[in-house]
Amino acid sequence: MSQFLILEFDTLVSIQIRKRALEGFNGLSRKLQIKADEIIQRLPSEHTLGKSLEGPFKGLRNIWITKKFRIIYCHCEDCRNNGWVSYNLNKRCENCDDYPPDTLHIIRIGPRGGMYDEVF
Ligand SMILES: [Zn+2]
Repeated sequence: MSQFLILEFDTLVSIQIRKRALEGFNGLSRKLQIKADEIIQRLPSEHTLGKSLEGPFKGLRNIWITKKFRIIYCHCEDCRNNGWVSYNLNKRCENCDDYPPDTLHIIRIGPRGGMYDEVF
């Protein structure tokens, strides 16, 4: 079975997937991968679907795939409209100004535990 990205996008929105998110995606069961793919497909047109995070994760949004697995992302329109650019400088949306507003960055995909043990 291929370990490469199987996400199929039918969108003109630019979707940047971080290496760690891709690793997380590859670690999901096939069933969860399909669910994650469906969610990510919706995000370009519904980028506020995820809940905005607070504290050290301010600037990012998170959305559940299941009760145990989540996707953490940011969207450049969000970065700018909410003044989150400065929060997302490190490893999230560095060079935000270089991206068109409709750029979606998938930061992490994986189980809820562990993802919050590190500030990214
Ligand atoms: Zn941005």
